[in-house]
Amino acid sequence: MREDSNTRRVIPVMVPMPANRPYSYAVPDGMRVEPGSILRVPLGPREVAGVAWDGDGEPVESRKLREIAQVFECPPLQAQMRRFIEWVAAYTLSPPGLVARMALRAPAAFDPEPLVEGLRLTAIRPDRMTAARERVLHYAADGQAWTRSGLAHAAGVSSTVVDGLLAQGVFERVELPPQPLVPLPDTEFSRPEFMPDQKLAAERLREKAGANAFSVTLLDGVTGSGKTEVYFEAVAAALDRGKQVLILLPEIALTQAFLDRFHDRFGAKPAEWHSDLAPRKRERVWRQVAEGQVRVVAGARSALFLPFRDLGLIVVDEEHDPAYKQEDRVFYNARDMSVVRGRLGNFPVVLASATPSLESRVNADQGRYERIVLSARFADAAMPELRAIDMRRSPPERGGFLSPVLIEAIGRTIERREQALLFLNRRGYAPLTLCRVCGHRFQCPNCSSWLVEHRFRRQLLCHHCGHNEPSPEACPECGTLDHLVPCGPGVERIAEEVDRHFPEARTIVLSSDLMGVKRLRLELEAIAAGEADIVVGTQLVAKGHNFPSMTLVGVVDADLGLANGDPRAAERTFQLLSQVTGRAGRSGKKSTGLLQTYQPEHPVMRALISGDAETFYEREIAERERAGLPPFGRLASIIVSAATRQEAEGYARALRRAAPAATEIDIFGPAEAPLALVAGRHRFRLLVQGTRRADIQTYFKRLLERAEKPRGSVRVQVDIDPQSFL
Ligand code: ADP
Ligand code: ZN
Repeated sequence: MREDSNTRRVIPVMVPMPANRPYSYAVPDGMRVEPGSILRVPLGPREVAGVAWDGDGEPVESRKLREIAQVFECPPLQAQMRRFIEWVAAYTLSPPGLVARMALRAPAAFDPEPLVEGLRLTAIRPDRMTAARERVLHYAADGQAWTRSGLAHAAGVSSTVVDGLLAQGVFERVELPPQPLVPLPDTEFSRPEFMPDQKLAAERLREKAGANAFSVTLLDGVTGSGKTEVYFEAVAAALDRGKQVLILLPEIALTQAFLDRFHDRFGAKPAEWHSDLAPRKRERVWRQVAEGQVRVVAGARSALFLPFRDLGLIVVDEEHDPAYKQEDRVFYNARDMSVVRGRLGNFPVVLASATPSLESRVNADQGRYERIVLSARFADAAMPELRAIDMRRSPPERGGFLSPVLIEAIGRTIERREQALLFLNRRGYAPLTLCRVCGHRFQCPNCSSWLVEHRFRRQLLCHHCGHNEPSPEACPECGTLDHLVPCGPGVERIAEEVDRHFPEARTIVLSSDLMGVKRLRLELEAIAAGEADIVVGTQLVAKGHNFPSMTLVGVVDADLGLANGDPRAAERTFQLLSQVTGRAGRSGKKSTGLLQTYQPEHPVMRALISGDAETFYEREIAERERAGLPPFGRLASIIVSAATRQEAEGYARALRRAAPAATEIDIFGPAEAPLALVAGRHRFRLLVQGTRRADIQTYFKRLLERAEKPRGSVRVQVDIDPQSFL
């Protein structure tokens, strides 16, 4: 290390580690670094990518001070994005380094994309002309540089023809910038004819998205009302302002049809961003988003951390969807953080849903968000007629799960050559296997949960930790053969029942564990093209798909989501079942939704059947307000886990004892978590509830400061605005 190190400039660098603040590094002489620059820095024995942060680095003893190794040739992370990272970190109580890490998830993209070799016409003419050469020259005559294969392809000749011309000097080699990933969207490409209420909504959204100002608009429209078409106008308005646009979708890997619709409107596809993207593609998206070549990204929640150069609009489609909550490392809700991003960047945000979250509804009711309502389906498509099947009065036959009423409806549907969807949010064959002789139940050795039988895979599988074992023939407890019975249904078992009743029908099971994303996409396309009569599926069939000939949706167990202690159970069930039944009748045919339930009088069932969502929302909102639950109060969970139950409980109790006194905040627990054991770790939960004004973050900071540091195998995870209470 150089002696004059105390005269070198020292800057803070955010490294992708669970560090609470940036680390200090020295800038070598002659190196140009600005806040946001993406850097290669030494960290312990390794080198990592970090981001130059703002202000001055904290003083460090000169012999400990290390130098920045390299500034990547990459657009710097914008100030807006750096503030966003700090905000998310402070709000979720996560180390900012871990949040920054989410913005740096494409290491190979920090170096520029390599130039591509291209060919350009010179003044030299070929020694002799052939028809093939003439065609090549015809295409190359536009003065543009071409790639060798691109030119050969355009001219319809083999590339040896091009090589021949190159050898004669007819072409010269030039370096071309890398191809854009997607062409530029054209906002005038194909504008739809809007119906009167759509037109009003579209105009209002255009106005909002055309302004350089923060606003949040809730686009609340029934399934099939044309929300997508309408918010595309907001996208167009932002693009016309020269801005980049982010569209968040809960299940982008499976909603390829969305990309086609975008193409129909804008003449080009958006760039996609999700975890199933090939690494090379991810890197190119990251880079071209940073450089501004990519104008529109359609992505999963993590797209919120892409390094946009000039973001001017975020649309969150299906804003109520629980998939927007990340529950891993940094616990954040991408819907809420989109609003924060819009506020920090001073640009509009659009939240779209047929069944808005209660949080967004209340924000709209209280005037913080503007609400635009589309209350009818597009064209003559009617909403499906929904009915409850009272399972107490029309029970399934012994060993079955489908009421005769539902079976009859399926029969009539497939006779008309239309499609039926049976929805059950349970993967596998049966959620529990039991020995009829000794009562033994198959449980996961690492988790407090039953093993789910997956008959296609001949396995018992734990849905929490992935533990699996071959399907047994004998009971491990009493050794009896052939007396194991599956209890309750999963989709595979429903498909088996359907097959018994309709052996001639083409039945397909769709469930994420049965096939990879590619195969799922193909299956979804095949279903949309009518290549199945009966579809049995988990929630992945519920999201955003358009199945034109689907006219019956049967919900196998409408009560399933109501039983747990989650404060959002009713809301969630209402949203999910509205969405599932909303798959029916989207192309104008008369359609039906049937809900198998043991509690047809439950407010959720009544709201679904009457179509009176308003009353349901009012009641739920009143209920939340009375209980001081979100959005009228604030919640946060602390999950303490450890290798032994004793350690977990001991530390959870210590945390409780360390809780500071606060007037607007209560702390409850610890209690053993409903999922008491996951992947071999014992879990205890504490719940913190505060008023709307309560400063939960400061409370937590004080709490964690006062408590002794966790030792041994103990881990503490804070979840602000928890969505899961398991
Ligand atoms: P939502 O997102 O509200 O469920 P979509 O935007 O998917 O509704 O619209 C439902 C269907 O109606 C789609 O096939 C869409 O292309 C069509 N549609 C909606 N509005 C129009 C319009 N104004 N012109 C043509 N087609 C439309
Ligand atoms: Zn397990």
